[in-house]
Amino acid sequence: MARSMGIPAIVGAGEKADEIADGDLLLIDGAAGEVVAQPDEQTLADFAERQKADAAHRAMLAQYKDKEGATSDGRRVIIEGNIGTPDDAVRVAELGGEGVGLFRSEFLFMDRTDLPSEEEQFAAYKKACEIMQGKPVIIRTLDIGGDKEVPALALEQEQNPFLGYRAIRICLNQPELFLIQLRALLRAAQYGDLRIMFPMISSVDEVRDAKQVLEQAKDMLTAEGVPFNSNVKVGIMVEIPVAAVCADVLAKEVDFFSIGTNDLIQYSCAVDRINEKISYLYRPLHPGVLRLIAMTAKAANENGIEVGVCGEMAGTAGMAPVLCGLGVTNLSMSASAMLAAKADLAKHSYDECRELADKLLACASASDAERIFTDWRES
Ligand code: PEP
Ligand code: MG
Repeated sequence: MARSMGIPAIVGAGEKADEIADGDLLLIDGAAGEVVAQPDEQTLADFAERQKADAAHRAMLAQYKDKEGATSDGRRVIIEGNIGTPDDAVRVAELGGEGVGLFRSEFLFMDRTDLPSEEEQFAAYKKACEIMQGKPVIIRTLDIGGDKEVPALALEQEQNPFLGYRAIRICLNQPELFLIQLRALLRAAQYGDLRIMFPMISSVDEVRDAKQVLEQAKDMLTAEGVPFNSNVKVGIMVEIPVAAVCADVLAKEVDFFSIGTNDLIQYSCAVDRINEKISYLYRPLHPGVLRLIAMTAKAANENGIEVGVCGEMAGTAGMAPVLCGLGVTNLSMSASAMLAAKADLAKHSYDECRELADKLLACASASDAERIFTDWRES
């Protein structure tokens, strides 16, 4: 959230943070992951220099605002923004986002004791579409459970919440809840290029079941004479390893894929994404993760559907060329990362991206891949 608002932030400072007293002057370099409390003159001057360099870098990036995402030889990679509220779309539009690649609709359901009504949801989705003025807006249906709580649903505590009753599993189990959201989405789709995305898909059955509930929502609206757009594109998050492995089958069922690398890495490397103690095992460049992404992209490309990445990896510095080389066609990230991703892509040809991706795919370990990636970034 801090990133999407352009606020420098540091996490995982641990006990060190206890040494900071109220009123202390702090210098924060979010990019370097550095905090200095009560800086001396020299450090203050050093940070002022960094700020100046950062401002110059931002000015350079501004030239990409109205440009489309593409490699130096014109291979298109659509650069989009992730949002949690409709108002976040303003920043995506201002910074030249080519769409919203992920609207995490669950934020409408959190931090409150009741559930948002169909009207409230409709207004929020419509607003996002209107702000984006006809550009694609991918709205993910309710993705709760795991680390995200919705008090009104009073979900039971579970031993393994990330593997438990969450996301599409809840929606398919509680169709009355799901139908309200789908009705709101279908109605809002009259105001832009709204697309519906189902999270945490692990099988074709779930896709078909979810699409059936969507048809039911359409039937209800038709019967009631409520206007809506029946021609909405439907996609899925590929974030469970079996979905990536079965991407060839799933690609025949949907209009687009979006790879959720945050969860894909968590599940494929069996590493809790919020556990600091084992974060060293959380490796986006693990060759196994890269193979899953390549496999998903290949299936999408062969079936003529778009394949995006909307996890943190999409907006990580230098990753855009890697993902493009792996065959990904869309990248969705926090608004503040979009210009740098366009700049990263524009520096390389598609062949160079593919060469890099092939080298990374051929690595025996994440460490080897990270070394190659760092050398390539510095060359
Ligand atoms: C992901 O899993 O990569 C993703 C984008 O979804 P979330 O971070 O909301 O789980
Ligand atoms: Mg996810």
